[in-house]
Amino acid sequence: MTDTMHIVLNQEDAQLFTEIRDSIDKLAQELRNLNPDGHLSDVCRRKGCSYYKHYLAMGPPDLTHDGFHAAEEICVKNQEQITRYVELNPDKPIPAELMDRADEGERRVRA
Ligand SMILES: [Zn+2]
Repeated sequence: MTDTMHIVLNQEDAQLFTEIRDSIDKLAQELRNLNPDGHLSDVCRRKGCSYYKHYLAMGPPDLTHDGFHAAEEICVKNQEQITRYVELNPDKPIPAELMDRADEGERRVRA
């Protein structure tokens, strides 16, 4: 007895399954084409977010809009990690590796 159940499809069922999956993928792509900003927050759609208000003001972008916000999240995590380190090790200097990672992230988002 195995802990995974395998369903064996005959060739006709497998073909039908593939067609249904392809139709769903195509429909999902068409929906994305109709509303390419559908995943964005209201602030981003209104171009009121940090990408438009701060990042683009500093020159042509190296990061896409989505990439910028992902990088921003990484910066926040880096900062949280440094804060946690300082709280746990109040008398020790912050390791260069943590600082370098935070600096690189902030450079990428032009913070
Ligand atoms: Zn945005």
